[in-house]
Amino acid sequence: MKLLMMGPPGAGKGTQAKKIVDEYQLANISTGEMFRDSYRKKESLGLLAMEFIRDGHLVSDEITIEIVRRRLFANHVEKNFLLDGFPRTIAQAEALEEMLDVTGSKLDAVIQIVVSDAVILNRMVGRRSCSICGATYHIDYKPPHQDGVCDSCGGVLYQREDDKHESVKNRLDIYKEKTKPLIDYYESRGILFEVNGEKSFDAVYQAIKALLDERL
Ligand code: ADP
Ligand code: ADP
Ligand code: ZN
Repeated sequence: MKLLMMGPPGAGKGTQAKKIVDEYQLANISTGEMFRDSYRKKESLGLLAMEFIRDGHLVSDEITIEIVRRRLFANHVEKNFLLDGFPRTIAQAEALEEMLDVTGSKLDAVIQIVVSDAVILNRMVGRRSCSICGATYHIDYKPPHQDGVCDSCGGVLYQREDDKHESVKNRLDIYKEKTKPLIDYYESRGILFEVNGEKSFDAVYQAIKALLDERL
């Protein structure tokens, strides 16, 4: 199974992706997480990427496509995966299609999490992330048991630099300009499925699961 999780920043992609990959035994490939991980390790890729990420800009297609290519094909060919946050541009989508073509495969389903701008802002500004394992919380909707501490690993929670106000607005504008066209791109291939992302964590999860079970 090859899936893609799409939606505006803060829609709940990462939250749902973590549960879906457990349920269906898929490799979880999040380009945002890969960049942040590389930054934490002070690798040159991560340091370079963070210059763009911090202000809410996209990392270049060239760099992003290359890290996905390596992740999918370098050691062994990944057959069952969920991509979260990639592709974000038409050029990335075309590159992904070409990569999969080479192995004679294609995406099975693209899940679009639909959320209004007002909800997005609320979710991004209240998001807190674990500095060690990347788990996400929300100050109102999913608070950790102990203030500022990750439930699963005890790591310190922090607010991502790009979740602060100015970058949030940039990211929304960029989403509309560069990423939204992917909805039509995948719709025309007949593999786009929309779920209402404004429901509870569990209701969104059940909706995704229902459509995957029905289709795949
Ligand atoms: P969110 O979960 O809020 O949508 P991500 O963790 O997916 O954010 O991504 C964080 C940032 O990393 C993006 O705003 C962008 O700067 C960079 N990034 C992640 N994926 C890509 C991509 N496919 N292309 C370009 N930049 C990306
Ligand atoms: P994305 O990966 O799309 O940027 P996240 O999964 O990180 O989004 O979710 C963004 C924020 O919204 C997080 O703080 C998360 O806890 C919260 N959140 C996610 N889904 C829901 C939901 N269904 N209801 C309320 N808050 C949610
Ligand atoms: Zn943690």
